Amino acid sequence: MTATDDAFRWARIYAVRHMAACEQAGLRWGETSITEIVTAQASWAVTVVPFTQQAEARSGADWVWWWTDAAGAYGMLVQAKRVTVAQSKWNFGFGYKTRGATRTQREMLLSAAARLGLLPVYALYLGTGNYRRWERCSESHRSGRCLQCVKRAVSLMPALLAEELVVDDAVSTYERSVALEELWTPPKSGALLIPVLEKQLAPELADFLRNEQTGTRAVTRKMMDPVLQARAGAFGAPAVAVNPSRIGDHDRLGPVFGNLPDDDGHWGLNYFEHTLNPLRRVPPGYVLEIASGDFDKDRLAADMPDNVAGIVVAEVPNSESE
Ligand SMILES: [Zn+2]
Repeated sequence: MTATDDAFRWARIYAVRHMAACEQAGLRWGETSITEIVTAQASWAVTVVPFTQQAEARSGADWVWWWTDAAGAYGMLVQAKRVTVAQSKWNFGFGYKTRGATRTQREMLLSAAARLGLLPVYALYLGTGNYRRWERCSESHRSGRCLQCVKRAVSLMPALLAEELVVDDAVSTYERSVALEELWTPPKSGALLIPVLEKQLAPELADFLRNEQTGTRAVTRKMMDPVLQARAGAFGAPAVAVNPSRIGDHDRLGPVFGNLPDDDGHWGLNYFEHTLNPLRRVPPGYVLEIASGDFDKDRLAADMPDNVAGIVVAEVPNSESE
């Protein structure tokens, strides 16, 4: 187990302890306290740069997360959402609007992520297994105290899949998200592809989607695979025609995959570009500065949108480091 694995495992353990203590006392734990616990525990193994002023001013603020390894980097803008369980209905309030704000938190997440070239993601705080009534989490669900269920207390879901009317129970939440501490675990099987898309994949992209990946590429697959599953209609999404492929711009320092299928699914945006472009061969300058320890925090904060509370840079284990 690497230092990163260990740090995120402890982050989840402490988050669950806090959730359990609050539940015991009849207190409603909030997103801010869980974000604090996860970030503080992760900081044993990753670099955390908080923008104090913004973080204090806005409790619903988003965090920039860059996952890095020797092969490249994958960038996310992460917004925290806790679940509220009532009977078997799960509610996240993705469309929430802060009092007095002109835009919803979701709109701010999406626009800031687009501006920064990051994947918009929700960190879903799901509470203890008891709170979720130990509803079946996966194929490997165990009766009793299921470890897989416990790991799901902190999960990540691509914002593209956080459809308010669809994600409203255990099944829809689990199939569209991944436990934070398993984000870089190599995917067990190839991505699910509809035949018309399969024919359009450039060899490098086909290899990436079909074969096992490690490190930042595993992180990318963990976000891409549920999107492709939704596209294939596995979750009941409508079938939509696929446009012929086109050759995109390809810059050696830019996105890893240049030639992507031109397909919007039912989302009204090219979900290949949306999900894969944040995978870079080389991270942006500010990430390199943070990694080297030589950076100006005030200047970094000034360059970021107002709703960004800080930046985290985490090195994930890849095949070379194991
Ligand atoms: Zn389970």
